Amino acid sequence: MMGFILRILLTGGCGFIGSAVVRFAIKNLGYEVINVDKMTYAASKDALEDVLLHPNHTLLTLDICDSESIRAAFAKYQPDAVMHLAAESHVDRSIDGPCAFVQTNVNGTFVMLEAAREYFATLVGEKRERFRFHHISTDEVFGALADEDPPFNEQTPYDPRSPYSASKAASDHLARAWMHTYGLPIIVSNTTNNYGKWQFPEKLIPLMIINGINEAPLPIYGGGTNTRDWLFVDDHAEALLKIITHGIPGQTYCIGARQPRKNLDVVKTICAVLDQKLPSPNGARERLITYVKDRPGHDHRYEIDPSFAENALHWKAAHDFERGLTVTIEWYLNNCEWWERIRSQTYGGQRLGTIA
Ligand code: NAD
Repeated sequence: MMGFILRILLTGGCGFIGSAVVRFAIKNLGYEVINVDKMTYAASKDALEDVLLHPNHTLLTLDICDSESIRAAFAKYQPDAVMHLAAESHVDRSIDGPCAFVQTNVNGTFVMLEAAREYFATLVGEKRERFRFHHISTDEVFGALADEDPPFNEQTPYDPRSPYSASKAASDHLARAWMHTYGLPIIVSNTTNNYGKWQFPEKLIPLMIINGINEAPLPIYGGGTNTRDWLFVDDHAEALLKIITHGIPGQTYCIGARQPRKNLDVVKTICAVLDQKLPSPNGARERLITYVKDRPGHDHRYEIDPSFAENALHWKAAHDFERGLTVTIEWYLNNCEWWERIRSQTYGGQRLGTIA
């Protein structure tokens, strides 16, 4: 597919990861992106930066559950590939209100698959050969690891344990079933925790950076021993776009960074970088760490063995955690206006970006 300008119908492109993919696809690869986003509380047009008004970018404000509009978008834009990222993505919210997660993550994926199937049936020749439906998912579908367990890989059985991960697992199963049953060329990727610029302030790393900047308490669930493998979002975007051109239909790719860290160590590193970049007269920021009651069903550890994907895609996460985190902290220090604007809004009776 080298030299060919791909037209990607991408869902969730105003979210954290989706916007990184849109920026990478247009700026680094010269692709066209039809960005389908409902613009929920988690969306931000600012995250598209200079590609928002780029001629290769079209933003359609649509709900993926709206079958008629989604089918019309396929018919009008005739994409070469789909990258499906739109989802409700915050685990804590899925515990308080699972309905939206089932609606978007399960029903919305069903609508996308059915619309893609109908569209795929109209394709012939090279366009049909080339078409891919890439479903973007999480390693949380595999359940939790104990400290001594080997990391997840493409063969790990599913064992989702939160409403979020169960809804993502359901959508992964639907996607694979649409390949086996209907021949839709599906690729699934399951990825570890991402971090980087434009991440919504409610997620662990931005929340801790922002509270650290403001010298507010740094709430850590349980004892802070929960472990995640942290992937820099731009490295993830690069891997996802490699999957679109080099991935094999029917294959799963487990994308990880080989950077597992305990939550407490993540927060301590954030404190150390902030102390260096924004010294406080009140002393080191570790004093702000407070332990709060663990959330129900909090998975202990996620970690991926990315060997298969690294070899198959000729890709490896470029950033180690400390480098990626420093870049991220610098970005939050320089973009206070964005996250302050979000935190001035309320959603569901709660100040946005103020929960862990
Ligand atoms: P996000 O919450 O930042 O963004 C989600 C985007 O989807 C938002 O722009 C939102 O407006 C849009 N959206 C939500 N419901 C929609 C609907 N019904 N119709 C159309 N658009 C809708 O999420 P993210 O962190 O960027 O995650 C993107 C994808 O990657 C998700 O599928 C998630 O499960 C997966 N993932 C995320 C991580 C992570 O660490 N963030 C890790 C692995 C996989």
